[in-house]
Amino acid sequence: MNIQDNIRLIRDRITAACERSGRDPEAVRLVAVSKIKPAALVEEAFAAGQRVFGESYVQELMDKTAEVRSPVEWHFIGGLQSNKVKYLRGKVSLIHSVDRFSLAREIDRQWGKLEKSADILLQVNLGEEESKSGAAEENIEELVRKVATLPRVRIRGLMSLPPFSEDPEEVRPYFRRLRDLSEKIRDGAVPGVEMRELSMGMSHDFEVAVEEGATLVRIGTAIFGERMK
Ligand SMILES: *Cc1c(COP(=O)(O)O)cnc(C)c1O
Repeated sequence: MNIQDNIRLIRDRITAACERSGRDPEAVRLVAVSKIKPAALVEEAFAAGQRVFGESYVQELMDKTAEVRSPVEWHFIGGLQSNKVKYLRGKVSLIHSVDRFSLAREIDRQWGKLEKSADILLQVNLGEEESKSGAAEENIEELVRKVATLPRVRIRGLMSLPPFSEDPEEVRPYFRRLRDLSEKIRDGAVPGVEMRELSMGMSHDFEVAVEEGATLVRIGTAIFGERMK
């Protein structure tokens, strides 16, 4: 397994998916999901030109930001408890997984201490699966309006983690729904809200996600190999 080759291959596949769907490959950013993988592999990916890394656990992110020397950009993509937000303050450039107002309010409070604004995505639960986090689709517009009132939080788009399917084509309707929802919110023109990012697509289904408009694809296994814990 060679990280550099894996990243190159994924970039080629993103470019091909963009060509099929008439999109600009520059509009798609690869988030390398390094959870459960050591800092040395982050450095290796950085050396191969990768700049954005996604982590799912607060403690692990803290350890890794201390260990990794290269100037990487960190995104937080996992489930987040409000009492842990303070540990992310100033360390991450985007939080993909905001699914409730109380969490957004705490992000607003913590970033306010830095006199900065936090960029966030709202996570939508499209599968209506009880086990998965994310705000219900029917509640999203209300959540957007409430979060938009917070001075230190900027909504940049939506994220989703659709149900897993062996066949990526079965996931396509979920990606479409997320894009439709994002367009609906954009049409609503809530002041301060930008629907520029769609965070969707993982190792097994990112090409379909790119065809459906993903601007951020979150890829772990296809870069770093299987995760063992
Ligand atoms: C782990 C994880 C990923 C990456 O999954 P792979 O299948 O390894 O590419 C993407 N998004 C989220 C939210 C994750 O937790």
